[in-house]
Formats: sequence, structure tokens, C-alpha cells
Amino acid sequence: MTYDSSNVFARILKGEIPCKKLHEDAHSLAFPDISPKADLHVLVLPKGSYVDFSDFTQNASDEEIVAWVRAINVVAQQHGMDKTGFRLIVNQGANGGQEVPHLHAHVLGGQKLGSMLPE
Ligand code: AMP
Repeated sequence: MTYDSSNVFARILKGEIPCKKLHEDAHSLAFPDISPKADLHVLVLPKGSYVDFSDFTQNASDEEIVAWVRAINVVAQQHGMDKTGFRLIVNQGANGGQEVPHLHAHVLGGQKLGSMLPE
């Protein structure tokens, strides 16, 4: 899939739409989800233009991949979720229910999250 540079996260990364930065490094940015699904719900993005996890895994540099994985844990640590527990979700494509075509991890916690999928 071709990267759509007008998607909402691309616009946040370009500074066209504001966000509350919780973490930023050379390759990653984290901010709260605008419509939280748990008491803590943070999104962690690579800054590079990657549509989804498969695109990122195949085309990102090792440095970008390491930065994104580490940024996820920095966010978990910021909120004590590394101790209390959390869930990572990466939606991809139609079956995954991905809405925004720029890779992002959902970091969810701050409460018991229940079953992995609706029953
Ligand atoms: P996904 O379905 O995995 O693509 O998730 C997209 C997420 O982006 C949803 O949970 C939205 O609530 C969130 N979202 C959309 N626009 C914004 C925004 N401007 N700031 C923060 N989160 C957003």
C-alpha cells in the first residue's frame, strides 16, 4: 500500500495537528489516544512513513525498529505499566480494523483489561 501523507498521524508528525507528547526521540513519538479505550491508552508511532507493521518490518532500519520497541517500553515505564501490566495492540489492514494508515502501537493499561477479544 502506498503511504498516504495526509493521514492524521502524518499531520501530527508534521506539527499540523497538536498532540500531548509523552515521549519523543529521533525515530519515535508517543501521545495519548484521543478516544481512550482504557484508563491508560497511549499510541507509539515511528516517525518514518510506514503504513503498517509489515511495511515497517520490511523497510525500516534496525535503528528505527529498536527505537520504536524501546519507546513502547519507555511509555509503559512512565505510567508504571511495566509493573502493573499492559497490553500492546497493533492493528493492521481490514481484518485488523486499522483506521489510521501509519503504523502505531496501542499501549493499554491502568486497569484490568479483560479478555483479549470480545466474546
Ligand atoms: P487504529 O484503529 O489501530 O488505526 O487506531 C487509530 C486510533 O487513533 C484510534 O484509537 C483513534 O482514537 C486514534 N486517533 C485518531 N485521531 C487521533 C488524534 N488526533 N490524536 C490521538 N489519537 C487519535
